[in-house]
Amino acid sequence: MGEEEAETMDAGASGAETADTDASSGNTLQTGALNGESSASEAGHVSIVGSGPGDPDLLTVKAKRLLTEADVVLHDKLPGPEIIEAIPEDNREDVGKRAGGEWTPQEYTNRRLVELAREGKHVVRLKGGDPFVFGRGGEEMEHLANEGIPFEVVPGITSAIAGPGVAGIPVTHRDHTSSVSFVTGHEDPTKQESAVNWEALAATGGTLVVLMGVGKLPDYTAALREAGIDPDTPVALVERATWPGMRVATGTLETIVDVRDAEGIEPPAITVIGDVAATRERVLEFLRNQPKTTEGDE
Ligand code: SAH
Repeated sequence: MGEEEAETMDAGASGAETADTDASSGNTLQTGALNGESSASEAGHVSIVGSGPGDPDLLTVKAKRLLTEADVVLHDKLPGPEIIEAIPEDNREDVGKRAGGEWTPQEYTNRRLVELAREGKHVVRLKGGDPFVFGRGGEEMEHLANEGIPFEVVPGITSAIAGPGVAGIPVTHRDHTSSVSFVTGHEDPTKQESAVNWEALAATGGTLVVLMGVGKLPDYTAALREAGIDPDTPVALVERATWPGMRVATGTLETIVDVRDAEGIEPPAITVIGDVAATRERVLEFLRNQPKTTEGDE
């Protein structure tokens, strides 16, 4: 699977709620006529929904309900096979990678969301993890607002926290770190105009959680070492967190690239850099989140 390039890191927004007014008829769901363009009975709307890291049990109750209620679900691959395959085939459209390898352009997805909502459909835009953590949910929300389409935001459990978590790694820990940064690894750290300032991130002394960071692992681990982070700093790679076949590989800032290569770690994976990554070793014997298969260290 490829890596999503999204870089939005929007703060949460409270989307337009669909007003479930309890009129005497009882069960009619009325979408608030927010812009007065269409009558309530015709107006469609979009739910921008986070699916969590992949285990269907980690869908929120609301996400699960919306997946059964929606007229159509637009998804990519990141929600994972178990969640996607549970949606009736006739009700879902894949707007992820197409046969042949190219990505569906974002403009297509934007256009399709508007088109379906204007047909009066309740559309679920399903995104892996949380829709606003490197998920382009921010862009889609703004597009819907520009087009006058009512929408709601349904947060999901982000892999940035849950991935380390299920591997026995707390992203903060009173004894080890009091800050955590979520970073895209997709950018080339040697690029002059890189939006990621690895030196500044190194200076925080806190946990660094890198998404989309398998391919460029050698670049940013080198950048962090150059910035003065101890090469013995613990690092963990959590591949396909909560999916069947989840794997975890551990090492240090110095060894992790070799570990990645030896274990064949591939996207989607989370990189956790910081002392908290060593917590795993201390709890592993009793951790029941996944089969204990891959250990990169030693
Ligand atoms: N919105 C998503 C992130 C999308 S960016 C979220 O909140 O989780 C895509 C990146 O997310 C991947 O490259 C990978 O780094 C990470 N990712 C998503 N799901 C994952 C999973 N189940 N296991 C490990 N990493 C995952």
